[in-house]
Amino acid sequence: MANTKGQIGVTTENIFPVIKQFLYSDHEIFLRELVANAVDAAQKLKALASAGTLKGETGDLKVEVALDEKKKTLKITDNGIGMTADEVDRYINQIAFSSAGEFLEKYKDQTNIIGHFGLGFYSAFMVSKKVTIDSLSWQEGAEAVQWSCDGTPEFTMGAGKKKERGTTVTLYLDDESAEEFGSKGKIRSLLDKYCKFMPVPVVFGKKTEWKDGKSVETDEDEVINSIEPIWTKAPADLKDEDYLKFYKALYPMEEDPMFWIHLNVDYPFTLTGVLYFPKIKERMAIDRNKIQLYCNQMFVTDHVDNIVPDFLTLLHGVIDSPDIPLNVSRSYLQSDANVKKISTYITKKVADRLEEIFHDQREQFEQKWDNIKLFIEYGMLSDEKFRERAMSFALLKNTDGKYFPLEDYRKAIEGSQKDKDGKVVYLYSNDAEKQWSDVEAAKNLGYDVLLMDCELDSHFVNMLEQQIPDTRFARVDSDTPESLIPKEEKVKPEMSDDDKKALQELLKGVLPEGNEYQVEPENLGETAAPVVITQSEFMRRWREMSALGGGMNFYGSMPESYDVKVNMQNPLIAKIWGDREGTADLLRQVVDLALLGKGMLKGKALSEFIARSEKLLG
Ligand code: ADP
Repeated sequence: MANTKGQIGVTTENIFPVIKQFLYSDHEIFLRELVANAVDAAQKLKALASAGTLKGETGDLKVEVALDEKKKTLKITDNGIGMTADEVDRYINQIAFSSAGEFLEKYKDQTNIIGHFGLGFYSAFMVSKKVTIDSLSWQEGAEAVQWSCDGTPEFTMGAGKKKERGTTVTLYLDDESAEEFGSKGKIRSLLDKYCKFMPVPVVFGKKTEWKDGKSVETDEDEVINSIEPIWTKAPADLKDEDYLKFYKALYPMEEDPMFWIHLNVDYPFTLTGVLYFPKIKERMAIDRNKIQLYCNQMFVTDHVDNIVPDFLTLLHGVIDSPDIPLNVSRSYLQSDANVKKISTYITKKVADRLEEIFHDQREQFEQKWDNIKLFIEYGMLSDEKFRERAMSFALLKNTDGKYFPLEDYRKAIEGSQKDKDGKVVYLYSNDAEKQWSDVEAAKNLGYDVLLMDCELDSHFVNMLEQQIPDTRFARVDSDTPESLIPKEEKVKPEMSDDDKKALQELLKGVLPEGNEYQVEPENLGETAAPVVITQSEFMRRWREMSALGGGMNFYGSMPESYDVKVNMQNPLIAKIWGDREGTADLLRQVVDLALLGKGMLKGKALSEFIARSEKLLG
């Protein structure tokens, strides 16, 4: 074969500087692209063999990656179909380069292309000063070909020396890349990241073993990938152990997951995968980049936001789909019809699975509820479709540790917890320890109290109020126990406006500064406390929601506001009201006791309270 020289088919005068700059931080994808080409070549050969076109054996198909740390060369060798000189000319000189040229032209200014797909063979030049291809085609009588290009648009092509069928791509790493990628450790970690589940064995060096206190190489190839990861298998052929083992392989540091879902669909799009429900305790502690996206067993990215609904990014696992467009920008993804379908499908599957466990394994579902609650609440708050489904399996937990589906709970409390306006009042505590006395008082009145101690609960409670007709939620400490679920109109003490004003002035004079108070005379009964301080359900909830980033900062920046109920039927209050001058200490004492019960008495006020108590006792 005569040596030929030529200009590769790119339009830009010199595209190499561009490609070197392109995706600066993601140069490492070159390895995935080249190994993927090698895997393709091996699979094409397998296809030829099964079609009967290939005469003779395929042999053990594999891809070998070899790094020469001294020479700073990296070789990727496959024993796949190989290429003739003609094919190199067609696929590399004309197609590969021109399509890479087009790709760059189009996406020059967009560095957020998913997984930086579409660069293919050309990406070798992101890290190399020279690249050679040595290839021998599978076709009978084919001659070996060598192609070489040193980073200008010129290439040379001529007879090669390759004896075995297949292709070797050799990268002569440039100085900067030799620094970054020139160690076996680095190449190994890139192979682990991108090639771990590719469908043809990928060999990197030899297995080592311990001999005489040191690690020595054996004759056996070190295969870095598993060619049949579980998501490619039929669920019927898999046991729980297989799913758990795969999870451990993906996330060695994580606790066992709670459930999993095997995804498997081939119409109207192709998608396989396994999603796991991790144990979630705190939203803040969740690592969201745990779902890995693959395309035909080739790792693409672990940033699947834009592909799955936000709440599903809390799950772990793998999604593999050739139908997710990869050489588009992230912002385009959400509007893609396939991506929308995929996202809807996954949401539906997740809901199906949860519903199935809810029906078939209720006990297990309840046991695991605390750990999946945050996920489900987040899903219900952020995804309407999921909420519609989850209303049937979401649970409420009460302060006795019992769990109820939403509908059952309503039935259970409807009889005793309906207020005068016909609304069913759901009582809850967000800290059963702190609100112990309030919880007890409510229970003594025959009420049930829910435990709502999750970060999202104030949003969740709001959502439930909107979703379940004629419902109101009230925290147990938001009012006096008797007034939490008012059964009839309250009879207010009869007082003139002037007296009311005087009472308000009197109380405000001894309440701590910095807050706002609504002082109201009430008839709470002779034995009830003289002064009760509560924070209205409404104010507290909005404040909590704005603290969580609900966007209601207006409420977040307002001073704390409290309701102060003065029980006019209490004998102490009667005494104070009758002799305002002579009972200054008693008034302070009564108010301080109310503050103390709310944990609002601190510092100087607290020590003054103690001193005054001693004086009053003495
Ligand atoms: P793509 O793989 O997306 O088609 P590439 O630029 O990576 O684009 O490669 C262009 C073409 O070169 C491939 O389609 C294939 O025909 C050929 N090719 C690349 N690498 C190999 C290889 N290792 N063995 C055989 N053919 C190859």
